Amino acid sequence: MCDCINKTELAILDKMKLDNKYAVVGEGQFSHKGMSFSGNGGWRTYQEFEYEFTPIKKNGEPGRQIKKRVSMYHTYCPFCGEIISAE
Ligand SMILES: [Zn+2]
Repeated sequence: MCDCINKTELAILDKMKLDNKYAVVGEGQFSHKGMSFSGNGGWRTYQEFEYEFTPIKKNGEPGRQIKKRVSMYHTYCPFCGEIISAE
């Protein structure tokens, strides 16, 4: 399993520090990253999908529409293309 997520985060922070010499750049990380406990495990990036959801009441009328999200882990590393899991 590759180490692209960690390496890329460090590379981005190094670049931000170089570009912002008159500021303090602290810690940082990808916002869509999660720990996988299946397959090879480890850190993985993911994509979110947002959709409209309208529940149907018992009387058949539509309820209040809300937005819902589902997350989908990347099967391949988005940086080097190495397969993360065959799931
Ligand atoms: Zn990679």
